[in-house]
Amino acid sequence: MKIICIGRNYAEHAKELKNDLPTEPVVFLKPDTALIPKKQPFFIPDFSTEVHFETELVIKIDRVGKHIDPKFAHKYFSEVSLGIDFTARDLQQELKSKGLPWEKAKAFDGSAPVGSFIQKDALPSLDQLTFDLKVNGVQRQLGNTKDMIFSVNEIIAYVSKFFTLKIGDLIFTGTPAGVAKVEKNDTLEASLEGHKVLQLQVK
Ligand code: MG
Repeated sequence: MKIICIGRNYAEHAKELKNDLPTEPVVFLKPDTALIPKKQPFFIPDFSTEVHFETELVIKIDRVGKHIDPKFAHKYFSEVSLGIDFTARDLQQELKSKGLPWEKAKAFDGSAPVGSFIQKDALPSLDQLTFDLKVNGVQRQLGNTKDMIFSVNEIIAYVSKFFTLKIGDLIFTGTPAGVAKVEKNDTLEASLEGHKVLQLQVK
């Protein structure tokens, strides 16, 4: 399986990192080794002193597709969750400044923990989902999918032009504002429409 991620999909987050608003989705990939087995902690890698959390709605693809029309995109997934797109921000800034790819800063082992999945039919409209991240019990990110620049259906259509979507692939759909550095011994807790789907220790 593969993990496809969208960057800069919320205007307030693009601004907080001083990036221009994208005119088409910003896409990058993570390998399956970016996942974290359930109940395992996230280990801050030794090549970074500034790993940020980015809480994101995650779509699980359950049907093979290529060149998917946005109006049929909803037929390609039935479950959603939240994930953390961990980012070594210091390394990413260095790579960006040199015009190099972001992979080392974004796709390292453990950089994509994903929570328990919820049937999308059990949730309100995907265009109006509220989600949040608490760090040590304090809310640090609060997002709503209505603020996405590119909707879930537009993202699925767009990425399927480049990559065949396969069963089990995951799509991270971008983070709202509020990203910040994690510290050792932090506890992260992400909730989607009030359902706590992800809890993670930082080591
Ligand atoms: Mg992200």
